[in-house]
Amino acid sequence: MQGFNKYYPPDYDPEKHKSLNSYRGKHALGDRARKLDQGILITRFELPFNIWCGTCNNHIGMGVRYNAEKKKVGSYYSTPIYSFRCKCHLCDGWFEIQTDPKNTRYVVVSGARQKNEEWDPEENGGFAVHDTAGSGAPSDPLAALEKSTEAQNHLTKVQVPRIQQLQSTSDHYNEDPYSASLRVRKRFRAEKKIDQAKQIIDKQLKGKYALPEELQLLEDDAKARDEAHSEWIRGRADYKAQTSNKRQRLTAPAVSASSSSRLHKLASTDKNPAVSSLKDRILGNTSRRSALPGLANLKPP
Ligand SMILES: [Zn+2]
Repeated sequence: MQGFNKYYPPDYDPEKHKSLNSYRGKHALGDRARKLDQGILITRFELPFNIWCGTCNNHIGMGVRYNAEKKKVGSYYSTPIYSFRCKCHLCDGWFEIQTDPKNTRYVVVSGARQKNEEWDPEENGGFAVHDTAGSGAPSDPLAALEKSTEAQNHLTKVQVPRIQQLQSTSDHYNEDPYSASLRVRKRFRAEKKIDQAKQIIDKQLKGKYALPEELQLLEDDAKARDEAHSEWIRGRADYKAQTSNKRQRLTAPAVSASSSSRLHKLASTDKNPAVSSLKDRILGNTSRRSALPGLANLKPP
């Protein structure tokens, strides 16, 4: 009996026995694995179609289940082909069904007959289903010959020259990998040195003028200098134009100056009477207070 429960007997040694199954000398799959040494595993298999048993000639319906002996019998590319060997439940005859990965279906191999119930659209007024892969060589011998000569021509005129070209290119690049690498590394090293020197100069410049680190400085070449020069000339011309405009406005007609002075005069004349009257009143008040000190003190309450 397979060890379903977790009772560990007193003489069970985990170091020695590893698991309860090995302690009892049983496979984890139990009785289903009794033919494992022959590559057979007992599985439950359901008939995928109707069959007639080859021994007792009884009809067996689709969906009847058997304890089948499952075995790998081959492979289609990397997909294994399994065979299921079942014992008829009405007699003691055996029949075998295999998977067919190429056509994604099951086929009866021996011991039974499959009831053909495949739907054929052509028979039922529909369009025929064509095999897109084609069925081998064309039946016309002349067409076959033409096809083979075409293939031959393609091989000699296109494929072979292309392969030769690729081969020679590959040989050219790989004839002396050490010197090629040396050449490339030498050039790279020189470029790197120049680059590093430039970076140092840029860094110093940025430090001097407190420029942000991420600012990209231009290459110091003739083109950049020309551009900067023309920009400078343009800026200078703008500045000159602006300053001359300002100067013109400042030294412009005396009319404006006179008008402004007249305005000032007007303001002062307007102001004067009010100021003088205020002054008179203040002076009058102070004189009255000084004349009548007693009255002035009594008034406020
Ligand atoms: Zn049978």
